[in-house]
Amino acid sequence: MFFGDGDGQIFTRTTAGIEVIGHELTHGVTQHEANLTYSGQSGALNESLSDVMGSLVKQFRLSQKASDADWLIGADIVGPALQPALRSMKAPGTANPHDNQPTDMNHYVHTADDNGGVHRNSGIPNRAFYLVADALGGFAWEVPGTIWYTSLLDPQLPPNAEFRDFARITLRHSRQIYGPTSDEAQAVQNGWEAVKVPIA
Ligand SMILES: [Zn+2]
Repeated sequence: MFFGDGDGQIFTRTTAGIEVIGHELTHGVTQHEANLTYSGQSGALNESLSDVMGSLVKQFRLSQKASDADWLIGADIVGPALQPALRSMKAPGTANPHDNQPTDMNHYVHTADDNGGVHRNSGIPNRAFYLVADALGGFAWEVPGTIWYTSLLDPQLPPNAEFRDFARITLRHSRQIYGPTSDEAQAVQNGWEAVKVPIA
């Protein structure tokens, strides 16, 4: 991991955001579990899992329920050029004037930059997680966090997984843990459908 003082314009002290530290540490977990390839959809999924777990670390620290969290990444480390934050899981594309994250698969970006847009397309699974957490309410690290984390550890999640592969695994885990007709499983299905990731 690399942290620094920033240039004061784009970034400031990059250790100031607990979700950023959680994000970077989660890359280590992902590397040793699913080992998601850092390009294209698997790379964007890798990025998203780091945002999800990083945000949950922050919410846990602040004892925030899903409805109370800001769902922002990097609010405490951006300088004037990128304020108010790097990314918004709740509303991808709105975190700062340069934020161009898509909100669903219809707007998935094919690009050679940034390993195929891993920091852009991550907005799609980020928003799916937010929608599940928002629908279920309460502490997001409890039910949605459990479903996402057990899915990350699932040996059936391949290194080249696309969003739909991960989505199907989260749906299967939600059904296994909470029941096939549970509110939890329904929320997961609705979340992925809302961001237009095929789950059937
Ligand atoms: Zn990252």
